[in-house]
Amino acid sequence: MQWKSPKHPNFATNTGEKRSINRVFCIAKNYEEHAVEMGGEIDRKRPFHFQKSFDSICFGPDVRYPSHTESLHYEIELVVILGSGGINMTLDQAELAIYGYAVGIDFTRRDRQNEAKDKGRPWEIAKNFDDSALLGTVTPKSDIGLLEEGSITLDVNGKRRQTGDLNQMAYQTVELIRFLSTLQELKAGDIVYTGTPSGVGSVVRGDLLTGQVDRLCPIEVRII
Ligand code: MN
Repeated sequence: MQWKSPKHPNFATNTGEKRSINRVFCIAKNYEEHAVEMGGEIDRKRPFHFQKSFDSICFGPDVRYPSHTESLHYEIELVVILGSGGINMTLDQAELAIYGYAVGIDFTRRDRQNEAKDKGRPWEIAKNFDDSALLGTVTPKSDIGLLEEGSITLDVNGKRRQTGDLNQMAYQTVELIRFLSTLQELKAGDIVYTGTPSGVGSVVRGDLLTGQVDRLCPIEVRII
């Protein structure tokens, strides 16, 4: 039997460098208004997260509409890319470990997520599927410094749907990295979706999504 090991995808940087992605961590409920629109609240004791597979990563420009949903939701997010790792990291170590940033979308089968919540099940079916983790071009931190404020927006077919500011995050990027490093050893190539501001909603095939975070390369993708 021929066995080809699955290959971790490479992300692209604005300088043309390519580096491989390791794990995909996603933070839930990190913006107050989004937590409220989901009928919940921010947990001030610790962040709440889940993981996607590295093969759920998608770079566009097409995003395949998944099976088993009639409510595919967008969630625009700042994505942090680690250039090194560690365990039980300090905030300073977390900052040093950040390689760069990208705009991303955490696509979600919202109908399946609502069922999972009702039944006390994991979010797997809602969050982890082909093309569910859209990742834009990465800008190194050495170019722009630590990103802790700036607008984050998403438009669907030219109409603004999500607006927020990175300074509204309950847990900033370095706090998220520090927290994750207490659960497992973090490694170079691990990436963290840092949560979405309010205004999430559904899309259908043919919709054009554009997303922006201040100082980062914008994304533009079509649902097919
Ligand atoms: Mn999300």
